[in-house]
Parts: sequence; structure tokens; C-alpha cells
Amino acid sequence: MTLEQLRRSDRTSLWHSFTQMAEYEPLIIERAKGCTLTDVEGNEYLDGVSSLWCNVHGHRHPKLDAAITLQLEKVAHVTSLGCSNPTTIRLARRLVELAPAGLEHVFFSSDGSSAVEVALKLAFQYWQQRDDPRPEKTRYVALENAYHGDTLGSVSVGGVERFQAMFEPLLFDVLRLPMPDSYRRPEGVARGAAAEFYLKQADDLLREHHDQIAALVMEPLVQGAAGMVCHPPGYLRGIRELTEKYDVLLIADEVAVGMGRTGRLFACEHEDVAPDLVCLGKGLTGGYLPLAATLATDEIWKAFLGTYAESKSFFHGHTYSGNPLSAAVALATLDVFDEERTLEQMKPKIARLEEHLLRIAELPRVGDVRQRGLLAGVELVADRCTKEPLPWQEQWGQRVCRHALGEGVWLRPLGSVVVIMPPLSVSLDELDQICNAVYNGIVALT
Ligand SMILES: *Cc1c(COP(=O)(O)O)cnc(C)c1O
Repeated sequence: MTLEQLRRSDRTSLWHSFTQMAEYEPLIIERAKGCTLTDVEGNEYLDGVSSLWCNVHGHRHPKLDAAITLQLEKVAHVTSLGCSNPTTIRLARRLVELAPAGLEHVFFSSDGSSAVEVALKLAFQYWQQRDDPRPEKTRYVALENAYHGDTLGSVSVGGVERFQAMFEPLLFDVLRLPMPDSYRRPEGVARGAAAEFYLKQADDLLREHHDQIAALVMEPLVQGAAGMVCHPPGYLRGIRELTEKYDVLLIADEVAVGMGRTGRLFACEHEDVAPDLVCLGKGLTGGYLPLAATLATDEIWKAFLGTYAESKSFFHGHTYSGNPLSAAVALATLDVFDEERTLEQMKPKIARLEEHLLRIAELPRVGDVRQRGLLAGVELVADRCTKEPLPWQEQWGQRVCRHALGEGVWLRPLGSVVVIMPPLSVSLDELDQICNAVYNGIVALT
């Protein structure tokens, strides 16, 4: 195919995710190394959003590449339906060792949405068939503006109006808590009092409805797709205490914030929280192959044990659940965390990102900058004093990102929030280039 044919087919044959195909401008990446992407014409771009939040140690990492070829010499696929393979077993063991205390069992699937579906279904079935059953516990609590994936179950617990309005008739009803936003707080609520304020609302809701609630699902610390909205410190810890008090399972969706993104391997570690169920995806394979995992406690696992005739097994599975090639590269990803001391090496980068954000925060269009580890959002607003949002239709974030692309930095915004989320292996120099492109892109708006 010529370049022109590639572009035409990319616009017509290939239907892209979350993309208005009538306005799609092809960006066709042919190769990548480290944090640099190269398109079919040989143009280079820094990967400022980790291939949509999943790359960890950079592209074409020799260890990760080798793990896949080594596994290929053994077997590419083994089903997880009543069958196993050494690589996937080793990965399950490794995750159990690394996870917060009590998470001792791993159910594999292929993407983050499925990891959330699995957690929702496990929570439901757990209450139906545990020793002291509570069959009336069938509902879920989720946060406003939550994003947990695109399958119907995960969309049901999601709360992004724009993504779900269309599918409303297909979704199940969920109890909602307000988004614990540190930036846009209700009137009269000081920053330091925000956690207490939002936890009071959670307490009220759980007190009233806990008898019907199977689980509360949330992203720990940061709501990624909501616009990198950071929860007030102590909120997660408080939610864990409330869910324990009211006998409600806590599902932590670490698909975006897990795998080192926040500076700890699991985001829950920051507040010393051990959930009942944890979902991992995105960075689990270093951003190489599809794989997701749902980790569960022994208490949940035990409720599914019995004879075949009792019909207590978990009736769920995917053809590629725990695929050995994916498992091999996931194991290698965890090895590289140790060998390259990735979490330790992130510290100066986190500090540098913070310096850049302070500079960016001075710009007139910028309402808020927020950061957790190597994850940041820069929110552009119509009015800094009133925090009035910019209409998403006007694509302010996209305009900044288009400018950045001209400076050789690839980014993808969330409405009027510019996302900065480079691979954890990014160098200080590369980080400077990415942040400078964001700065210049915002300056160019005005
Ligand atoms: C991306 C994401 C998902 C969905 O993962 P997919 O692999 O895209 O299905 C779920 N939850 C969160 C928090 C995410 O960021």
C-alpha cells in the first residue's frame, strides 16, 4: 500500500475507538522505541500519554521483547477453562505476593472492562451463595463521573454522562455518590475538610441502603477519565472503613492508577487500604499485550467452593483469559520494576513534573493542575475565579494537543483537561520536552 492508500483505508476500513470518523485525521505509527513514536513518514513524537495510559517501561524494552519470544518457543495459547500453564501460574503467584494483604486469588481476563465485569459478578454471586447468604444484596454504589470501561456492566457503574446517555435503557440502576473533587468543592467546604464532607455523604447512603448493596466500586485516589480528578487525602481510607462497617464489598479499579503510575505499585498502598476486589489492566503487561486481572480475597473465593453438583463455580471466562504470551510479558514487566528500581527512579521525575505544573498553573487559561505520581491533568477553564468549565464541544484540550504534535509531542486530552502521563521510564529531558509543549500549546491559545 502507498501512504495515500494507507491513509484512505485508515479512514474507511478501520473503525477507531472513541473517534469521530468523519473528522479523523490519520496518525499512523509504524515503530516505537523507549518514549519515541515514529510514524510512516519517519516523523518522531514523544509519547506523552503512554499509548493511552498503558505503557510502563517504554516501547521495545529488550527484556519485554525477549519474554515474548521466549514464551513463543514454548506455547502461544493455553485455555484457562479447566487447564493451565506454568507462566500464568507464576504470574498469579507473583501478583498475590505483591498485592495488598488478603488478596490471594487471581482471575484473569483480557481488558480492563472485563476485569470490572468480573469483579461486579463475583461480588453479586458471593452474597448469593456464601455460608450465611444475603441474597437481597444485589445493588452497587459508584461515584459520579466514574469510568470503569465500555461493556454494559462497566458502563452501568460508570457515570460519565456523555458516554452513557445513549445506552441508558440498557443499563442497570446504580446508587451514586458525588465525585470527591478536591478542586470543585461545594460552597463553604475548605480543602482540608473535603474528605470529611464527602465521607459523610457516603456514610448516609450506606447507612440507608447497605442491606441491598453488594459492593462499592471506585478508582482509588484519582478518577482518570473524569479528567484526572484527585480525591482528597483520606477519602479512600474512609471509604474502606465505611464499607467494612456496613458489610459492603469494596472493589478498587486500579486499571489506570495501578502498576506504579502513582509512585507505588498499587494506588491503594498510599492509604494502606486492602480492598476485597482489585482490578488491574492497562499497564499489567507493560502496555504490550491484552491482559487484565481481578484479585479477590479468600473470603470471596471460599463462597465459590463446593461440589460440581452444587453449581457454585464462577460462570464466567474468556477465550484468552490468562494467555501465556501476555502472562510472560506481565512477569517481565514486574521483573523490570525490580531490576531498574522503577519506583525509586520515578521520584526525581515526579518532582520535575510538579515544577512544570507550577509554571503551567500561572497561565491565564489554567484553572487547576493536579498530579499523582507520573499522572497529571491540566484543566483549562472559562473563568479562573468561578472555575466555570469550558464547553467540551469546543475541544480546547484538543487544540493544545494539536499544537504539541507540531512540537513533536503526542498527547490525547479529556475534554478541556490536558493529560500528561508519559511512560514511567521517561527521561528528565523527555519530560521537559513534553511539559514545554503543553506550556507552549496553552500559551498559543491566547
Ligand atoms: C481504561 C479503563 C478501564 C477499561 O479498560 P479497557 O482495557 O479499555 O477495557 C476500566 N477502568 C479504568 C479506571 C480505566 O481507566
